[in-house]
This record gives sequence, structure tokens and C-alpha cells, in this order.
Amino acid sequence: MREMFYSEFVEVYEKLYGTSKRLEKEAILAEFLNKLEKKGDSEWIYLLRGKVFPDYDEREFGISGQLVIKTIASAFGIKEEQILSMYREIGDLGEIAEEFSGKKRQAKLFGGRLTVSKVFGNLRKIVDIEGKGAVGKKVELIAELLGIAESGEAKYIVRTLLSDLRVGVADGILRDALASAFFEDRVEVKELIGRAYDICNDFAEVFEAAKKGRKELEKIEIVPGKPMNVMLAVKVDDIGEAFEACGKPAAIEHKYDGFRVMISKKKEEIKLFTRRLENVTKQFPDVVEAVKKNVKGESFILDSEVVGFNPGTKKYLPFEAISQRIKRKYDIDKLKKELPVEVNVFDVIYYNGKNLMSSPFRERRKILERIVKNAELKIRSARQIITDSEDKAMEFYQEALKIGEEGIMVKNLDAPYQQGRRVGFMVKLKPVANDFDLVIVGAEYGSGKRAGWLTSYIVACRDNDKLLEIGKVSSGLKEKSPADRKSAGPEIPHKISGKEGTSYDEMTKLLKILIKEEEGKIVKVKPEIVVSVTYQNIQKSPSYSSGYALRFPRITRYRPDRSVKDIASLSEIEREVGKRGRKR
Ligand code: ATP
Repeated sequence: MREMFYSEFVEVYEKLYGTSKRLEKEAILAEFLNKLEKKGDSEWIYLLRGKVFPDYDEREFGISGQLVIKTIASAFGIKEEQILSMYREIGDLGEIAEEFSGKKRQAKLFGGRLTVSKVFGNLRKIVDIEGKGAVGKKVELIAELLGIAESGEAKYIVRTLLSDLRVGVADGILRDALASAFFEDRVEVKELIGRAYDICNDFAEVFEAAKKGRKELEKIEIVPGKPMNVMLAVKVDDIGEAFEACGKPAAIEHKYDGFRVMISKKKEEIKLFTRRLENVTKQFPDVVEAVKKNVKGESFILDSEVVGFNPGTKKYLPFEAISQRIKRKYDIDKLKKELPVEVNVFDVIYYNGKNLMSSPFRERRKILERIVKNAELKIRSARQIITDSEDKAMEFYQEALKIGEEGIMVKNLDAPYQQGRRVGFMVKLKPVANDFDLVIVGAEYGSGKRAGWLTSYIVACRDNDKLLEIGKVSSGLKEKSPADRKSAGPEIPHKISGKEGTSYDEMTKLLKILIKEEEGKIVKVKPEIVVSVTYQNIQKSPSYSSGYALRFPRITRYRPDRSVKDIASLSEIEREVGKRGRKR
């Protein structure tokens, strides 16, 4: 059996922690991957990003900070209060475990050394344990590891369990490191590795292929049943720019205001994945049913936008109104009736055993129209016209806005389906240009009527793998929670009017479980909650790490369907600043 000591991982974690330079991180990882190839299992690569499963696998350790405190207390015979007060000061349970583990060193001299397979094995068991007595069993498995761990090892075991490794290995760096570890011609192979990763979202699979060479990487193919990264759009300011990007004639479709769902079917089994690769099949039995009844084919992958509508008036509702269906795991039948949805299918990527990604969009659309039977308010092919006329396109745009859509998508008829990057094969035109999706990285408790709630939020954009703060936003959310609103008025149609967004109370609940550090009224949180923020202007500002500040920002939506990967990049923000400069 292949074996490595966990201390070898700790060594690489420390090296990565020691630099913020991307190229240095890449070199450290590349060297380590060569070692891992010889001595370890491919799956151990997940540990480099603090995981034990591929990125698309949503299973979690289910370990709270509180539980770790309990475990450290019992593993090292210390009072919980002492750990808690240290935590308030240091803000990192990993470091606390490190300290106590160091002190206990003497007692452990006769223990064995911690192997990677032991750590990996226990971590996986921790994820899989469910049901009665699960917490106790999880604690035992952690305590067993902490009992053998040297100090640095204890630190990283705890950080891994809390999904807060703090060594800064984003997926982009690991992809590039795989290219440098195994290939001479890195630039070209980086593309290939990027493609393979977009398809499978599994570093172990890409690692396994990269070890064997380019041919194996090329063999990684999309398969129904597994989530995949989607194609993204470029934003344009007017219809002329849209045609410039996509050529004439182009396909023009409504930009539905819902959330993106990849629908896949394999051997009678239908699965639904969001853009963050979450499996939402259970939450949307109505979508599964609509697909079963109205889409022909033994196997396929469809790209679609699922939109909510008011069951009374049949009018489309904005995304916010149905967003709660994405996370909800109970009362599904009730929600299905209260917040029904329509599936708008706009692409087909795989059909009956054939990968269609390299076929031109016009061909894919033909197949789509052939296989999707339109069923009113259940499922349909996205409304589309093909035109080279700016007037016709503008007419279509106005129509879309009139019925409450966000705008239009303009698509290049000859383009392949290109995952991930914004390459301009499809562009979006919306009236409100000034909004960005950003992630909340910190927050502040309110006072007076808002005491107890986190009411102002520090938001960040990204620059490759770094998060950069770009402003503080405190307006846009509602004062009351839906429960209060419900008792205050009729449930329907009031409740689903769509005008009611997320409340401060709800946002506080979402953020509280993500708190990393707390000082006075200010907290730092794990960057997981993505919000759409509108603003009036962007200014240069030394107050935030991005170098910019949004003026008069306002949260328009909480986006549970987006992850930190989807937020605005610094270059998008700079582009916007540039455009605004030119317009003035
Ligand atoms: P936005 O915040 O503007 O929705 P985004 O960052 O979510 O943008 P983009 O790829 O930039 O995603 O914009 C296109 C999005 O619009 C898609 O992700 C999809 O969810 C949605 N959409 C709605 N209707 C369509 C359509 N007909 N074709 C493609 N995408 C559509």
C-alpha cells in the first residue's frame, strides 16, 4: 500500500501559508504533486484544498466550532471555558489545538506517526456518519486523530474539519500546478487541464489523467448524471455591441429572471444541478416530472433557467420570490404549489450518447426544439428570434422587459458551448448595468431597533484567488422576517408577490454560522454568502483592499444559487470604471 505521513502535507501547508505569491504557490504545489504521484493516492489531492471529496460533492463534515471546542477539551483534559476565552483572543481553533497538542507531546512519544491514509480515512468517516449517536462517533474519530497528532498536524486537522484551511489554494492555482508538475508545454496544457476540470470538477480524476499524459486528459468527457460548469455570458451596453460580439444574424432570447439549472438524464434517472454544482433534484420534483413527460431522449444534458410564477395571476416572479425553494429540504409539496416554476430550456449539451459541445449553437437549438415539447407553464424552449436587424432586436428586448424579464441574451449561432470563461459566444443586455454580484466577508451589528442583527456588510470582489473588499452596504434588506410578515397578512398572493426580499433577521442567521472572528460589534465571516449589489458610482478609495469603493450601494438580492467563484472580478470592476470615465 502507498503511504505518506501527514506531516508531509503539513509541511506543504506551511510553505503555502508562507507566501501570497501565486507563482510561488504553484511551484510549491507542483513539487508536492510529483511526490504525491509517487507515494500517495490520487484522492489525497483533495486534502490540499481542505476537502475529502470532489468539488461537486456537497457532503460536509458537519462539525461546528462548538463541537471542536468540546473535542479539544476532552482530548487534552482542559476546561471548555479556557478554550473559549483563548478562541476569543486568537480566533483560530487550529492554533489552539496546535498549542495543546505541543504541550502533550511528552505523553505521546510512544504513539505512532500519523499517516495520510489514517487522516483521510477518519475524515471521510466523519462525513458519512449519520443518525443516532452520530455526534459522539464523530468526536471519537477526531479525538483519535488529535491523540496521535503532532502540534502542526493538530492545527491542520482542526482547520480542515472547520473548512477553513487558510493556506489559499484556489482551484485555479491547483490546475496550473498540475500543468507545471507533469508537462513541459505548460501554457497549452493549462487550457487542456482547465477544460478537463470544467467537465468533471474532480481534481483526483484530473490528477490521475495528468499523470498519464495529454491523451488521457483529452479523454475526460462530459457524462450525464454529474454536474458540470456552465457557459457564462459577457455583459454589453447596447444592441450594436451585442451584434459585434456575436455576428449577424444572431439568436436573441429572453433573459429569464430565475436560476440556472443543468438537467441531466441517464437511464431514466433525472438529476438537476445548479450553477454551483449543487444537486437540487429533491427540491424540484415538479421540474423532474415536467422533464420526464415532455423531453424525448434516453440520455441528455440540458441547460435551462427555472423561473417562478404567481399561481394566481400566472405572471413571472423575480428570482428572489422562488429562491427559498433552492435550499428548502422540507414542505416540498406545499412549496411546489405556492411557488410553481416553469423551465425554460435554452441549450442542449449532450444527447443520446453524443457530446454536442463542439456543435454550433444553431444545430444544438434544432435538436432542442425537436426534443422539448412545450407544455404551458411547465417547460418550454426559450423564446427565440433570429435576426440581423437592430430594430427587431430592440423590439424583442422591449417586449421582454414589458413582461418582467431581465433583458435579452444574444447568442452566436456558429459558436460551440464553451464552459466557464466569459468568451462572448453569448452576451447579455440588461437595463440596469450598475450591479455586481459580491461576497460578504464581514458584518457589523446594528443598534437601537436593529440591535442583535448584523445590519451592515463588508462586500468583496475577487482578483483571481484573492478576495478584495470594495465597500460596506447596509441598505436593501427588509426589516421583518417572513414569519412576521405571514402573520401580518394573507399568505397568498402577498407572500409570493416577490417584493419581499431577504430580511436582516434571515441574513443574520445565514452569517452567524459563518463567523470566523468577532471583535466588539464587528465580525469576519467565511466568504459564502453572495449578494447582488447595485450602486450609483464607483470611486477610487484607499479604504478598501480593491482600491475602489461603491457609492450608495444597495443589496437587491441574496443569491443562494451563486458561489464565490461567480462574483465580480476586479477586472470587471475596472472595466466598468473605465467605461464610466469615458461616458463622462
Ligand atoms: P446575471 O447576474 O446577469 O444573471 P450571471 O453572472 O448570473 O448574470 P451570466 O452568464 O453572466 O450569469 O448571464 C447569463 C445568465 O442569465 C445565465 O447564467 C442564466 O442563469 C440566465 N439566463 C436567463 N435566460 C437565459 C437564456 N435564454 N440563455 C442563457 N442564459 C439565460
